Amino acid sequence: MRLQGKRVFVTAAGQGIGRASALALSREGAHVIATDLHDKFLADLNVAEAFALDVLDKAALVAAVTKAQPDVLVNCSGIVHSGTIEQATDEDFDLAMNLNVRAHFHAIQAAVPGMLERGQGAIVNIASVCSSLRGLPNRFIYGTSKGATIALTKQVAADYITRGIRANCIAPGTVDTPSLQGRLHATGDYDQAMKDFVARQPMGRLGTADEIAELVVYLSSDETKYMTGQCVAIDGGMTM
Ligand code: NAD
Repeated sequence: MRLQGKRVFVTAAGQGIGRASALALSREGAHVIATDLHDKFLADLNVAEAFALDVLDKAALVAAVTKAQPDVLVNCSGIVHSGTIEQATDEDFDLAMNLNVRAHFHAIQAAVPGMLERGQGAIVNIASVCSSLRGLPNRFIYGTSKGATIALTKQVAADYITRGIRANCIAPGTVDTPSLQGRLHATGDYDQAMKDFVARQPMGRLGTADEIAELVVYLSSDETKYMTGQCVAIDGGMTM
């Protein structure tokens, strides 16, 4: 039980990587506080606490994190926009920056005072291979925002490195989640789109949410207490 006695707050925990992470953290003994925009995704999520929370609502997010007083904060919210800079709109850019970056800023800002008081804390942000690690076609807004997620992680790590708070992030390759399935269907040619996604992965397959969740557990646990400011790629070889 690597997380026995730890309070862990997870955003966007209703589906995909967030959900798998909430369950994996709970299996390791954590008191998991799972949140998601949609109540319906949380109904059958068997963790200590689960409630609806829109991370774009700063007041609600700050209140929930402050009340939870987490030892570990897992920021999982994120949206993928497809397209080049020519197709990018200000509205889509703002939404991605708000969901993929600003929500993490607000949640971390709310979690830090309690972590400092207790002299320990771990923050895990979900970034992406598509970021400062790699440029990928048709992901202008997404990659830009995820590059900021990595930078945000390093800045927080640098500021609290001597005060017990660690911040790391994870850069998954392509992971089979409900939103990925949605993107595949949205192309109009599911089979071809799946082939294209798999072709991007040198390992020849997509990742699973459970595989990413195991890394979330590891970075949340004291097993990695000498590790901070890192971005760990788990990507079927996309960045090797
Ligand atoms: P998903 O897109 O399948 O699910 C996202 C969850 O976020 C849903 O439960 C949704 O209800 C919730 N959500 C949406 N808006 C919200 C809001 N405003 N407040 C709170 N919750 C909200 O999940 P996923 O594909 O596992 O992606 C999770 C994270 O992993 C994202 O940050 C994503 O960018 C990142 N990621 C995913 C992949 C991939 O291939 N799936 C690859 C790299 C990184």
